[in-house]
Amino acid sequence: MKFNKKIKITLTIFVMIALLSTGFLYMKNKNIEEIPYTLFLSHVEKDLVEEVELSNSEKFKVILKNGSVFITDNPRKESFKEELLLNNIKVIEKDETISQTIPMLFTIFIMGFLLFHISRNMSKQAAREMSQMSKIDTENNSKRLTFSDVAGNEEAKEALMDLVDFMKNPEVYNKLGARLPRGVLLYGPPGTGKTLLAKAMAGEAGVPFFPVSGSDFVQVYAGLGASRIRELFKKAKEVGKSVIFIDEIDCLGKKRQGNNFAGSEEGDRTLNALLTEMSGFNDNDGIIVVAATNRIDILDEALLRPGRFDRQIEVNLPDVNGRYKILKLHSENKPISKDVDLRKLALDTVYFSGAKLESLMNEAAILAAKEKSNEITSDHISKAYYTVLVGDEKKDRSTINLRDKEITAYHEAGHALVTKLVAKENRVSKVSIIPSTKGMGGFSINLPPDKMYQSKKDILSNIMIALGGRAAEEIIFGKDFVTTGASSDLEKATEMTLSMIALLGMDEEVGLVNYKVVGNRNLDNKLVLDRAKEILDKLYLETKKLLMDNIESLKILANNLIEKEVLSEEEINHLISIEI
Ligand code: ADP
Ligand code: ZN
Repeated sequence: MKFNKKIKITLTIFVMIALLSTGFLYMKNKNIEEIPYTLFLSHVEKDLVEEVELSNSEKFKVILKNGSVFITDNPRKESFKEELLLNNIKVIEKDETISQTIPMLFTIFIMGFLLFHISRNMSKQAAREMSQMSKIDTENNSKRLTFSDVAGNEEAKEALMDLVDFMKNPEVYNKLGARLPRGVLLYGPPGTGKTLLAKAMAGEAGVPFFPVSGSDFVQVYAGLGASRIRELFKKAKEVGKSVIFIDEIDCLGKKRQGNNFAGSEEGDRTLNALLTEMSGFNDNDGIIVVAATNRIDILDEALLRPGRFDRQIEVNLPDVNGRYKILKLHSENKPISKDVDLRKLALDTVYFSGAKLESLMNEAAILAAKEKSNEITSDHISKAYYTVLVGDEKKDRSTINLRDKEITAYHEAGHALVTKLVAKENRVSKVSIIPSTKGMGGFSINLPPDKMYQSKKDILSNIMIALGGRAAEEIIFGKDFVTTGASSDLEKATEMTLSMIALLGMDEEVGLVNYKVVGNRNLDNKLVLDRAKEILDKLYLETKKLLMDNIESLKILANNLIEKEVLSEEEINHLISIEI
């Protein structure tokens, strides 16, 4: 803005001066009548001319004896002055060149000044852009963040803590031949504190933080993205130990899809520059690149290979405990009324990200300030709650949330309980109803020490585990109220069933024929499909029966999930052991 204004002023001045000086020159001759050269010659012949003002310019001035003044064309021939003198005409030589060059010089000067100014401002602009992209902002560093500014996210913090130690004491690791990881990928929904974590990591390590966004690198001129990357790393190398943070890395490193648009080629070039830079620095440089994305599934695998972003840390939406901690953290500097129950608020804010919780407390504070209240009351918070939700989606999430929560809880409890019932040796390491980037819910199982082979029994159990979610939904909510939540489960179950019978020869009726080999030769596909349906239906009935027989366990698990949102392995085992 400032820069535009300056240019405008300079331009105006320049134009005014130019107008004035040309105007002046013009005016000088303007009121004087011009006569043809031939007429001038006849005046000379008639001895009417008193005086001539000669210069190098196009015209010259003639003063007649009767006092009238003319201008006429200057013949500019060498003997002209002599001829005039011979005709008894007074000749005054005027060096008009000077009076002409002055405005010209002036113009050149102004033009130069202007060009210099513009170009300087343009490079300034570029520099500013560059520095905006990778600011080692003192602003940023003025308040150094630490992990205490990040509430919840314990697992991510722990993983990053290790890296901080790496950066602080590289000798310890180097001695043992350990290599400092170069890249860490934080992935998870927006607003869950990925940027915050990266900043805190730099803060903990006491090193500069260079934040950029992948989207800064797209839609720039050919080659500029790549050179910006190189510039960024150069800067980081200059300061030594540092954290480079690349937000929205998916903008840079989308899976290559084979189509060769110019744009994607440009993206590739930028991505390649990034990969080259990352493999280019020495372990001792102590530079760590932290990248963040909401979409790990669309990332180019090249980014995830060893020596690149080989550490991947999931940053999920907070569970009820995490939400409580975040709410507490963001209430610390605010006068909160005694009637506010943050624990209860944490319960009411399922699926809120850290950013949303922060914004909730902030909105509440704004409302309180508007009302000139001394403290933030629960009334302000509930009003703010709706502001935050409305800004998000135009539906009343509070009621939907509860229902969603219940459905998800029973669904996930179904998976977990079936696991414990049909495959006791399987560990259920965690059950959660907070959606993760990997899919609905957060049910996760770990098979016991990796087996080389899976038996038919294992596959059948796994199919039942996959069907457990839908089965629980049907038992609790009724046939007509089952949800789309099971879609990927059914995909998995169908796939397992089909490979069991059509590829692995594990079904007596279909036999040992491998249908991959048969391929398109159109053998008896109907037989396979019918068998698959039969098997799935039968297993589904079995799964439902299993859950009905253990309905109390299912309810206990689900209710605990609704309350706590996440259950650990011990909690699950404990809850189930009461009943089984
Ligand atoms: P992301 O990078 O994952 O999109 P950010 O780190 O930009 O999310 O989070 C935005 C803001 O939300 C943060 O500046 C902070 O105020 C708040 N926030 C998010 N997660 C947390 C958390 N775990 N603890 C405290 N504040 C958080
Ligand atoms: Zn499921």
